[in-house]
Amino acid sequence: MLRRVVQEVLQGLFDSVADQGSTTAGRIQERIEASGLRLDDRRLQITMARLAEMGDGPIDGQTFGRIVCDEALMLKRAFNSQLVIPEWQDFCADIHAIYKSVAPDRSGANADYIPILRDADSEPWGVAVCSVDGQRLAIGDVDIYHSIQSVSKPLTYAYSLATEGVGFTHQFVGVEPSGRPFNSLELLPDQRPYNPCVNAGAIIVAGIVASATPGLNSRQITQKLMDLWSDLCGGLGDVRFSEETMLSERETADTNFAIAYLLRGRMGLPRGVDLHLMMDVYLSCCSIEMTARMFSVAAATLANGGVCPISGVQVLDTEVVKRTLSVMQAAGMYDNAGSFTIEIGLPAKSGVAGAVMVVVPNLMGIATFSPRLDAYGNSVRGVGFCRELVDRFTFHMYDSLSGGRSGCKRDPRESQTNRKKRDLSDLRWGAQCGDRTALLVRERMLNSMLAITLADGEIEDPEIEAMACIYTELMGAPLDRDELRRLAGSMVAQVAAADPVDVLLRQLRCDRPLLDDNARELILESAFRVACSDGEIEPQEDRLLRSLAEALGIGAGVLDLEIDRFRRCSPTRLA
Ligand code: GLN
Repeated sequence: MLRRVVQEVLQGLFDSVADQGSTTAGRIQERIEASGLRLDDRRLQITMARLAEMGDGPIDGQTFGRIVCDEALMLKRAFNSQLVIPEWQDFCADIHAIYKSVAPDRSGANADYIPILRDADSEPWGVAVCSVDGQRLAIGDVDIYHSIQSVSKPLTYAYSLATEGVGFTHQFVGVEPSGRPFNSLELLPDQRPYNPCVNAGAIIVAGIVASATPGLNSRQITQKLMDLWSDLCGGLGDVRFSEETMLSERETADTNFAIAYLLRGRMGLPRGVDLHLMMDVYLSCCSIEMTARMFSVAAATLANGGVCPISGVQVLDTEVVKRTLSVMQAAGMYDNAGSFTIEIGLPAKSGVAGAVMVVVPNLMGIATFSPRLDAYGNSVRGVGFCRELVDRFTFHMYDSLSGGRSGCKRDPRESQTNRKKRDLSDLRWGAQCGDRTALLVRERMLNSMLAITLADGEIEDPEIEAMACIYTELMGAPLDRDELRRLAGSMVAQVAAADPVDVLLRQLRCDRPLLDDNARELILESAFRVACSDGEIEPQEDRLLRSLAEALGIGAGVLDLEIDRFRRCSPTRLA
C-alpha cells in the first residue's frame, strides 16, 4: 500500500517534468530553480549529485525514481508549489521592481571615519532574499564583501545569551531603546548600557564573551563568532576577516575606548576581563566581512526561529532568537529605531558599511547592501527598500490588524490564484442572490469601468462589449449590454451637473468601511482591466486609476506593482 503511494507520488513528480516518457537533468534542475530553491541547496545534495552523473542523457521514469527517492519530499514540495512562497516567480518580479525603483536614489554619503569605508565605491546596490523554506533570490551587488560593522551586534548578543545565559548577560546590559546616537556615552540609571545594539552595549557584550574563555586571544574569540555567522549562513560563502578594517578601527576608536573606560569605572567589567581584549573583540567583530547574499540566509535563519533553512541545522535556540529579534526591533536601526518600527514594523539591523539585515518572522530574511548612509547611519537605499516593501506586502507586524483591511497589500504566502478563487466565489454568489454588499460592489465596478472608458474617449459598442467581457470574467456571470448602455448614458448626462468621476470617488470613499479588501480590490481590478484592454495604460487612465485606488484605500505601492506587472507582460508596449 505504502509502496503504491510512493510510486504514485514519484510518478506524479516525473510526469510534471517529462515529455513522452522521458526527461533530462536540465529540465529537472530548471524546475527546481523555478520554485526558488537553488541547486547548491544541501537538502537536494544527493539528487544533484546523481543528476550530475546523468549528463544530458534522457531519464526515464524508473531512473527518475532512483535519482530523487532520497529527497522526494523536498522535491514534491518544490514541484507542487508547497513552499512558503508558492508563486515564487511572481514574488521575484515584485522584488525586482522594488529594487529598480530604489536604485536611482544617490542621496547620503559613505561613512568616513576610516579610509576603507570612506574610499569604498558608493554605487553598489544589492538585494538578497531567502525564505524560511530556502527559496533564494539575489539581485545586483550581492557578492561584494564588506565589513559587517554593527550588524555584528545582535549576533554577539545572541552568542552571549546562548553560551553565558540570559541572567549573566543582562547583569551587564539592558534592553531599552536609548534614543541616543549609537556611540553615546550615556548609560541606564543602574550604569548598564541601554541595549546590545548601541556601542556601549556591544562593547560590554564583547567583554562577556571574551571573559568566558581565558587564554584565548581576540582573533580566536572572534573566530567563534565567525563560526556562528557561518552556521547562520548555512555555510554559504566564506566568512572573512579584514585586518585592514580592524587596524583602522583601533586607530580611530577614541570614543569607543572612552565608553570602555567609563564602563570599567562605573560597574566593572565582566569577570574582570582585560579592557583591551574586550575592545579588540568588539572591533574585530565589526571587521568580519560578509556579503548580502550570505546575510540574507543568516536573516532567514533568524526568521525561521534559529534553524538554517538551507542546511536544516538548529544554529540558535528559538528563545535566544526571540530575544535577539526583540532587541533588533527596539534598537536595531540606531536612534531611528522607533520611526523604523512604526513605518516598517520589522526587526532589522544596519551597519555603517551599508548593510541592512531585515527579518520577516516565519517568512524570510532580507539583506541589502548600499554604502551611502542617512543622518542616522542607516543605508539610504536599504531603508528605502524596506519602505517600499511594506507598502506592497503585508509584512508590517501590525498589518494583521487594520480592521481586516490591509490596503489590499499582498501576502506572498498565499497563492494569488487560490485567494482570488475563494473570495470571488463568495461575491459572485452574493450578487446572484441579491446580497446588498455584493450588489453595491457590482454597481461600483460598473461605474468604475465606465469612468475609465470615458477617460479614454467615447463609449461605443466595442467598449461596451469589452467591459461586459471583463465583468463576466471577473464575476462569472453575464452582463446585460443594455444595462451598461443605460448607465453610460446617465453618467454622460450627469456631466453637466457634477463631474461623474468626482461623484464616484466620493461614493467610494464613503463605501470604504463597508467593503473588505477583496471587494475593494475587485472594483479597482475591473477598472484596471478596462484600462489595460487596449494594450496600453494612457496617462489619464493612470491618473484615474490612482484616484480610484486612493479613494478605495489601496496603497499606491500595490497599484504600482500591478501596473508594472502589466507593462512587463504586455507585448504591445514599446517603452
Ligand atoms: N565600528 C563602528 C564603531 O564602533 C561600528 C559602528 C556602526 O556600524 N554603527 O564605531
